[in-house]
Amino acid sequence: MHPNKRLNVLSQQLLPSAADSVQHVLGRVACSEGESQDQLGLQATSAQLGHSPAFPQCSTAADFPPAAHDALEMDGLLTPQERAIRLRVRSYMERNVAPVIAGFWERAEFPHQLVPSFAALDLAGGNIKGYGCPGLGIVANAMAVIEIARVDASMSTFLLVHSYLAMLTIELLGSEQQKQELLHGMGKLNLVGCWALTEPSNGSDASSLTTTATKVPGGWLLDGQKRWIGNGTFADITVVWARSSESGQVNAFIVRKGTPGFKATKIENKIALRCVQNADMVFERCFVPDSARLPGVNSFKDTNKVLAISRIMVAWQPVGLAMGVYDVCARYVKQREQFGSPLGGFQLVQERLVRMLGNVQAMFLMALQLSKLYEAGSMSHEQASLVKSWNTLRGREVVALGREVLGGNGILTDFNVAKAFCDLEAFYTYEGTYDVNALVAGRGATGVAAIKSPSAGKAKRG
Ligand SMILES: Cc1cc2nc3c(=O)[nH]c(=O)nc-3n(C[C@H](O)[C@H](O)[C@H](O)COP(=O)(O)OP(=O)(O)OC[C@H]3O[C@@H](n4cnc5c(N)ncnc54)[C@H](O)[C@@H]3O)c2cc1C
Repeated sequence: MHPNKRLNVLSQQLLPSAADSVQHVLGRVACSEGESQDQLGLQATSAQLGHSPAFPQCSTAADFPPAAHDALEMDGLLTPQERAIRLRVRSYMERNVAPVIAGFWERAEFPHQLVPSFAALDLAGGNIKGYGCPGLGIVANAMAVIEIARVDASMSTFLLVHSYLAMLTIELLGSEQQKQELLHGMGKLNLVGCWALTEPSNGSDASSLTTTATKVPGGWLLDGQKRWIGNGTFADITVVWARSSESGQVNAFIVRKGTPGFKATKIENKIALRCVQNADMVFERCFVPDSARLPGVNSFKDTNKVLAISRIMVAWQPVGLAMGVYDVCARYVKQREQFGSPLGGFQLVQERLVRMLGNVQAMFLMALQLSKLYEAGSMSHEQASLVKSWNTLRGREVVALGREVLGGNGILTDFNVAKAFCDLEAFYTYEGTYDVNALVAGRGATGVAAIKSPSAGKAKRG
């Protein structure tokens, strides 16, 4: 049978919108990569059915399981609007993304083909008021983030970097002209943004950044390197943090794709968030006009205005990811039988599930309260760091338990858990590692700053 016919037959057994989406995505992917549709289509289509011929006992995550994680009915803490967004995004992710995302993750590709339908969800610039953006509250936006991360952490990071780093920086610290020029297009995802702070020599110690901005007539010359920049290989807009030659303080600049002197190269061989295209960036006498400088940034401290909000969203990401892992496991233990009964009937398996469930519920509550503190205008950096560090730590426990519950299938991306297991590692590290956030929270708890080693000065002198 011709591969296209076979695809059609299989697709007819699917929900209509999912089938359309799979046809659309597979067709474009195969063409764009010059692979045969047979090769790619068959693999992805059988995954789409949630059915592996070699292991018919259990459904794969291509047919994403129903939500089973809300044991304490946390949904009841949400407003009708927040619940509605949650359900809308959940439905989109389960129908359109779950059937195809494992393949993109395996190939370490960003699913560009999904961007138009993703943009139609109207989530970009979620908390920004005006400029054609949704202007929703933090919790409503967080509900979108967790439902994305529940199915795929990479897509949630794509949105976070674009929306809660790049767009937010322009909205909070840009000129009116920059906002008018960029935010409308970014809100529709016609323009994609990224945010370049980290450098090869300055990760946790970002405030020591060494990229320079030298004042020249009519603009600035940027020189230096950045590392790990999410969406960086294809972003239209890069927000670059650099030290001004005039003031010695950190400023920020908008650099457009294709600007001479600016080069972004994909970081290969990543084992987490494989769909996210992280870039190494080089700026060599890269000229940007005066109009590209964000007037609201006058020192490194201004990064905190952005990170205060983005860190809340990053604290929510492991909640969504852990929910997805729990949901997959809850279905798996009903389907999989050993020693004559479903895995769910074994005491050890139940204990693992309960530990996962307790963590998911506690993580949700921590992030919800953090969001409420922010909305009340009283959230501190120490509180944000406490929740970010704690949620990633507990998230690590959830994915490790999930990986055990699935046995051998716990190391296959088909069942989502292995993918989530790897992806959680990026959450644990970015926007401040677990350690650095724990130390910020520790400073809040003790009043003593322990981030700088007492030997730092001596080592430099030595
Ligand atoms: C997938 C991914 C996406 C990212 N996306 C972006 C992005 O879009 N934009 C951007 O600007 N950056 C991005 N980052 C960079 C990220 O923020 C940094 O990786 C992070 O801040 C840690 O820096 P580092 O990797 O250089 O580790 P290092 O700072 O070298 O840390 C190494 C280890 O030392 C520990 N350590 C460091 N300092 C201390 C201390 N004072 N006390 C105790 N322990 C300490 C750390 O906790 C860690 O365990 C991304 C990173 C990843 C992995």
